Amino acid sequence: MSQIYDRVALIGLGLIASSMFWAIKRAGLAGEVTGYARSAATRDTARRIGLCDRVCDTVQEAVEGADLVVLCVPVGAMGAVAHEMAPVLKPGATVSDVGSVKRHVIEAVSPHIPDDVHFIPAHPLAGTEHSGPESGFAELFDNRWCLLVPVDGSDPDAIARLRALWEGMGSNVDEMDADHHDLVLAVTSHAPHLIAYTMVGVADDLRRVTDTEVIKYSAAGFRDFTRIAASDPTMWRDVFLTNKDATLEILGRFTEELFALQRAIRTGDGEQLFDYFTRTRAIRRGIIDAGQDTDAPDFGRGKTST
Ligand code: NAP
Repeated sequence: MSQIYDRVALIGLGLIASSMFWAIKRAGLAGEVTGYARSAATRDTARRIGLCDRVCDTVQEAVEGADLVVLCVPVGAMGAVAHEMAPVLKPGATVSDVGSVKRHVIEAVSPHIPDDVHFIPAHPLAGTEHSGPESGFAELFDNRWCLLVPVDGSDPDAIARLRALWEGMGSNVDEMDADHHDLVLAVTSHAPHLIAYTMVGVADDLRRVTDTEVIKYSAAGFRDFTRIAASDPTMWRDVFLTNKDATLEILGRFTEELFALQRAIRTGDGEQLFDYFTRTRAIRRGIIDAGQDTDAPDFGRGKTST
């Protein structure tokens, strides 16, 4: 794979940025990768583990001269970071992001982007419940989708270059409109995370089942919920605050279905339960057939998830 950008700046050095760095290095996709993180502790860790060719103490220093700047901070922090770096953006550069919500990021970041800079939002559909600079690995994006969400009038060459970067990092790439993205992700990721948080919270509240019993006899269903519910609180708080409408719409639908199943259990309607579970099993089969999860009994636990 050949070099796509001379210089890439990664702003925020957590799971996604560190995985991007290792994936960029694996394929030689950039000449130099600079990095910036808010806290001195994260910058020190990055320097210690060799994360980024150059770790900078200010966002401006990291961004200066970069051909591609990728915002890898929580969704709620994107606007402030864009504002801070805007004055030093190089003319002709591309700014992108990896935020899990797209409409909000576009509204928060666009006003700060100079006319001579391209802004192409993106979202890699890959992650784990771990966070921070030491959690990344080069294979995170392999065979996972990355959605590009170009804003009106985006430059086709700049989009093609960003697409090549994500493909070089192992992703399959699609383009999607921001509102549709937020609805799709509300179904496939955001609502399921809220349900997992709730389920683990409920188990925590059930005093008739002791904490040790919950942990000791944790069966596959609950264990999988706890893995998702261990995801980063800042990131997920921001997701729900910024993808409010789509998440609430899907949760409304979820509640209706839950009531229907609750009723089927109460009235002993085994046929309805059986038919429902048969349909959901087919969806699982489809995900495996599409290569987006493994059929292994442990679901490939320990690898990619989100
Ligand atoms: P992470 O591991 O928690 O890292 C976040 C980074 O952002 C850290 O370096 C942190 O700096 C920095 N940061 C936090 N708040 C900030 C602020 N107010 N101003 C400036 N920097 C700030 O997060 P991540 O999992 O890589 O997620 C990053 C982005 O990717 C998020 O927008 C998320 O929605 C998106 N995403 C996540 C996943 C996933 O599964 N994790 C998947 C796809 C997309 P310090 O370390 O110095 O605090």
